[in-house]
Amino acid sequence: MTNATPRPSFLAAALLAWYPRHHRDLPWRHTRDPYAIWLSEVILQQTRVAQGLPYYETFLAAYPTVQALAAAPEAEVLRYWQGLGYYSRARNMHLTAQQVVAEYGGLFPSTYAGLLQLRGVGPYTAAAIASFAFDEAVAVLDGNVYRVLARVFGLHSDIAAPSSRKEFQALADQHIPSSTPADFNQAIMEFGAIQCTPVKPDCLFCPLQSQCWAFQHGQVALLPVKSKAKASRTRYFHYFVLRHGERTYLRERREKDIWQGLYDFAMTETTVPELPPAELLRHLDALGVQLDTSQAAEPSSAYRHVLSHQKLEARFHPMALSHPLPDTTLRDLGLRAYSADEIEALPKPKLIVNYCNQNI
Ligand code: SF4
Repeated sequence: MTNATPRPSFLAAALLAWYPRHHRDLPWRHTRDPYAIWLSEVILQQTRVAQGLPYYETFLAAYPTVQALAAAPEAEVLRYWQGLGYYSRARNMHLTAQQVVAEYGGLFPSTYAGLLQLRGVGPYTAAAIASFAFDEAVAVLDGNVYRVLARVFGLHSDIAAPSSRKEFQALADQHIPSSTPADFNQAIMEFGAIQCTPVKPDCLFCPLQSQCWAFQHGQVALLPVKSKAKASRTRYFHYFVLRHGERTYLRERREKDIWQGLYDFAMTETTVPELPPAELLRHLDALGVQLDTSQAAEPSSAYRHVLSHQKLEARFHPMALSHPLPDTTLRDLGLRAYSADEIEALPKPKLIVNYCNQNI
């Protein structure tokens, strides 16, 4: 009986030979610290590397340990996150850090199964931390990996369907070498990101060309199969930029909607783009803000912002108040008056930042 190491699969052999010559040098590839790896994975979800990199560096400088992140005020964490979008990631990240400190003594669990117990940590992030920090042979599955596997092995299952995960996971787990799981995971994700790209993959100089099902069958452009996301809807926001003297009224968004925990102005939402003056006064009246039309300036032109399943179109109505808002109105609307410097320090959605940069 021999104890020979199993031969790496053709996929692992090709990717592990390709990776050292082609990969990008990124800071989170030089660490085994599960906290730093986790941070990079959370930041890079739905974010390009070039955009996420400065955020990773900023967060690590501001919060070098999971304890530091857990102890930070939520508004500060959201302010550092400002501009990255998908703010629930930041709120969940903050809560997970608090869980790691409170329930695990500040140490991340060291196994895939243990990591999955953490709040907001799904299979992808757990696999990334388990393999990069603790050398566990569990394959990561992100969009890049799905694409490479679908093309190389000719899988036609819809990658948007949750039922496909099992099939792809089993295939990836079959090919990950137990001796170098971290390198394999890094390699397959990087290969998908820079060689086997969604559009115009570099098939001509691809080391997998002769074994790639999609290339051999002329179906590269057809794989992976991905059903369309549901059509996005347009929402029309009308912001009331209420000002008294040098101070402007903002509120923290608490409702279960987009931008929870971020700050914006009092507002109303409609199903049509325009808000005629009579309607504007009616809405203000309903909010308990008494104005006459002479205090309202022309609304801004539309500020547009695209989120994953909705398009936003916002118009801002600046209004100079002759008296501060009464306490009851402040309480009912959750508003507070802020100076320009204080507004700058608040975490705000990109759309509000754009407006404030030009007008406050
Ligand atoms: S041959 Fe083309 S489609 Fe196939 S793995 Fe290489 S880059 Fe991807």
